[in-house]
Amino acid sequence: MSSVESKKPLCPVCNQSDQVMAMQTAYDAGVARCAPPTMPTRNISMMPYIIFSVILVGICIVLILVLIGSESNIGSIAEYILLGLTLLSIITALVLSYYAFQRVVKGDNEATLLFPAWDRATAVWRTLYYCKRDDAVFDPKNASVLTAAQVSALRSVEEGAVQTLTAHAQKQSVS
Ligand SMILES: [Zn+2]
Repeated sequence: MSSVESKKPLCPVCNQSDQVMAMQTAYDAGVARCAPPTMPTRNISMMPYIIFSVILVGICIVLILVLIGSESNIGSIAEYILLGLTLLSIITALVLSYYAFQRVVKGDNEATLLFPAWDRATAVWRTLYYCKRDDAVFDPKNASVLTAAQVSALRSVEEGAVQTLTAHAQKQSVS
């Protein structure tokens, strides 16, 4: 138990370690801003496209039934219009499906691009500590307190924020 206690770094604000805890511990204790960096996921839903396509196909079926069922009642021009609308609906459904597929592929690529940044953010997050007394997130390597903006940038895996933070830490440890 004492070995665990001795591993805790001193808080740069109060110079004590009794209220210092790892970020995960702080997060588990309910400190929301100590949450680990959010894993990038593709947040593109195909549902709106699927629902729209289903409605279009439904309209197609209704139109075809009307076209077949009312041969004697409507003129040839109306039939052509209905046929044209049906074909248009089918083409629109196909185009929408293709577009939805492209969106999902693009979303996947964007998530993949963010993974290295998320990896680095998580690595940085693991080295940080939280002092409950001062409500401060700090880096024990250079005894610097992170600003709220730095912590939230790290958590949301903003492209560029992690590089800035690590570069800042390296610069501080060198000097
Ligand atoms: Zn403190």
